[in-house]
Amino acid sequence: MNMKTKIIIGSGLTGPLLAIFLSQRGYAVDLYEKRSDIRLNDMSPGRSINLALSHRGIKALKSANIFDQIKPQLIPMRGRMLHLLNGDIKFQPYSIFSNEYINSVSRSKLNKILLNKAEESKKIKIHFNHSLSKVDEENNKLVFENGNSVNCTDHMFGADGAGSTIRKYIDSKVDFPSLIKPLGHAYKELQIPPSSNGEFQLDPNALHIWPRQGFMLIALPNMDKSFTCTLFLNNKGEISFEKLLDSDSIIKFFNKYFKCVIPLLDDYPQLFLDNPKGKLATIYAKEWQYNNKFCLMGDAAHAIVPFFGQGMNASFEDCEVLMKCIDDNSGQLEQVFKKYNKIRKMDGHAIANMAIENYIEMRDLVTKKEFIRQKELSNILWKKFPDRFIPRYNMVSFTSIPYSEVLKRGQIQKEIIKKINLNSPDIQLAEKLIKENLVPITC
Ligand code: FAD
Repeated sequence: MNMKTKIIIGSGLTGPLLAIFLSQRGYAVDLYEKRSDIRLNDMSPGRSINLALSHRGIKALKSANIFDQIKPQLIPMRGRMLHLLNGDIKFQPYSIFSNEYINSVSRSKLNKILLNKAEESKKIKIHFNHSLSKVDEENNKLVFENGNSVNCTDHMFGADGAGSTIRKYIDSKVDFPSLIKPLGHAYKELQIPPSSNGEFQLDPNALHIWPRQGFMLIALPNMDKSFTCTLFLNNKGEISFEKLLDSDSIIKFFNKYFKCVIPLLDDYPQLFLDNPKGKLATIYAKEWQYNNKFCLMGDAAHAIVPFFGQGMNASFEDCEVLMKCIDDNSGQLEQVFKKYNKIRKMDGHAIANMAIENYIEMRDLVTKKEFIRQKELSNILWKKFPDRFIPRYNMVSFTSIPYSEVLKRGQIQKEIIKKINLNSPDIQLAEKLIKENLVPITC
């Protein structure tokens, strides 16, 4: 096995997990992170406070032998709790099976557990306050903003997030650079504190959504019985962030669209004014590797919009896919990056596109009769043909079917539902179409 030290840039969520996986395969790892150690100084401005962890992420964490430490930090969310404009509240379960749910987890807690586990392995060294500023391949050097530089003759991983310096370096070398597609919408976080008697103010076992056609507010539970709320809204236009720049306009907006949330909010409307606005974009990197020496992982390769709750899950799955490529290659990294690039890139692009589509589902469609009917019918077909027909949300969140296959199967399933008449479904025709067009699922 090649024992030279591997370098990872970025110790967000992906970097430490990747380091753990590599160390378990006998490699020594140097991990460079631009921020200071969040275990000493927990400041993550502009990042989501909590995240939804589901099957793919859990599977990778289990395979790295770290899930047992994370499990006690999870709050199950069994479905969407819809808060309609007229005050009605409706629950839409994620699955027909009680063991299929997503989990809310604190980003910083998860990050800290991963960093601790990485450090426990004596093979990983973490260098905080090291922001990579330049790749100087001619002189085989990585240059950091603090003036330090290190040799980089060996393999190197960019786990440095959406603004990845490693990706920008790869882009400068290849014919087709990455494509960055802004969503046009941004997000802002707010807080719902625990009630005066220390309880959750909303049902903790649901992902709460206030869908408002074109924009939405969501809330995920935290272990301290608070909720983190996120408003997703257009940057520009009649109803947009550019119109919400002072207390008066914020109060007017919330009175009109989110009146029922106002009594629950902490430090309203000041927090809205104080909190940063987060950007949302999709990054389609054309090359996820260069020269079999540089390799992109996680958001560095595929920053996606957060509406499928899959960015981190996909990033963790990247690590598992790479490890499979390494294991299949008897532990040698030669040619492995090319193989990983080939297998994984189409999955990254597929989840990116599905995540954009899911924004429309969450903010606009969830309340529509036709959508609800389609969901009911999907569930009927799922029960009848469980090895061939699984609703797309469930394939994404609760299986390891490659995202690119999920995208294809989802399109076929949508066509089948269209053909069999929503209001009086022809189940025999459904069976024929399912058997003709959907091969049995094996994973
Ligand atoms: P990051 O978490 O961005 O980490 C990158 C690290 O690299 C950081 O620590 C950074 O400081 C460091 N770094 C950057 N540049 C340099 C440099 N030049 N030198 C050294 N270090 C550097 N995903 C889910 O699965 N479920 C969810 O529910 C979910 N919700 C989300 C909600 C929002 C609002 C957003 C914005 C994202 C959400 N995501 C979710 C996506 C998830 O946050 C990302 O996919 C995940 O953080 C990717 O991890 P990463 O380590 O690849 O990147």
